[in-house]
Amino acid sequence: MTATIIDGKAFAARVREQVAEHVKRLKTDHGVKPGLAVVLVGEDPASQVYVRSKGKMTVEVGMNSVEHKLDADTSEADLLSLIDQLNNDPEIHGILVQLPLPKHLDEDLVINSVAPEKDVDGFHISNVGLLGTGQKSMVPCTPLGCLMMLRDHHGSLSGMDAVVIGRSNIVGKPMAQLLLGDSCTVTIAHSRTKDLADVVRRADIVVAAVGRPEMVPGDWIKPGATVIDVGINRIERDGKNKLVGDADFDSCAAVAGAITPVPGGVGPMTIACLLANTVTACCRANGLAEPEGLTA
Ligand code: NAP
Repeated sequence: MTATIIDGKAFAARVREQVAEHVKRLKTDHGVKPGLAVVLVGEDPASQVYVRSKGKMTVEVGMNSVEHKLDADTSEADLLSLIDQLNNDPEIHGILVQLPLPKHLDEDLVINSVAPEKDVDGFHISNVGLLGTGQKSMVPCTPLGCLMMLRDHHGSLSGMDAVVIGRSNIVGKPMAQLLLGDSCTVTIAHSRTKDLADVVRRADIVVAAVGRPEMVPGDWIKPGATVIDVGINRIERDGKNKLVGDADFDSCAAVAGAITPVPGGVGPMTIACLLANTVTACCRANGLAEPEGLTA
């Protein structure tokens, strides 16, 4: 079997188009322009790249983009005061604090200081609770992107066996909640899981969110299963730098029914879902109908 490649880059472009159309309608019909504020503390090079591309894509879909770049030694009080100001700004509908934060800042405290309805990352404890209890929430972007691709590929996910490898708060746990919400039978695996290969072999859907290059080989995959590879790992091969996922692409693609590539799979969907969450937040803030298909 040779797997269908799930083209996350093309899918993300379609999501951004849908967002752009909705933004246009919000402006013409209601005079509302969604706004996203991104807060970056420090000079982490990878974070600077992410923030730049988030800002560029926010503008491309017609939304307001506001960037706050703070020094690495910014005090917690100053950061919280900025977040408070953004929470109270009616032109800002989404707030994203770029992680990781410098060590002297309490990440949980900062995340939970963002107003839940503007928490477009979906990391606030209220949104985590709402998602866990099956209520309307802001859904974390990376798992939301994975869910959209799975729904698009399969239609209904009801009754499928899903294994999520990884139990982080930003990917593994919310991914498992979303799959459960779509009536999959869900197993969450992690570093202490026994016989991981056998656990993964049962799965119709495998979501790998570990951060270990190519750790899932093709012989762990049930023939015809769908592999969603969240991992982004930089390795050196044949003297060149390369990005690879958590799945060994060639051997998995030989067995799976469908697979997301790295790069060009889950990655592009994450920013597209951030934009989708911002437009959803803007609609909710204004009591307007939400765009269809852009949230869980
Ligand atoms: P994380 O917080 O480091 O969590 C990794 C998880 O993998 C942990 O739950 C850990 O288990 C588990 N794990 C580690 N070694 C394992 C092993 N040998 N067998 C089974 N499970 C193992 O990472 P994350 O933030 O979730 O990110 C995971 C990957 O996704 C990374 O490569 C990251 O770069 C990527 N990522 C991509 C996007 C995107 O937009 N595409 C977004 C976010 C993250 P324990 O809990 O037991 O330690």
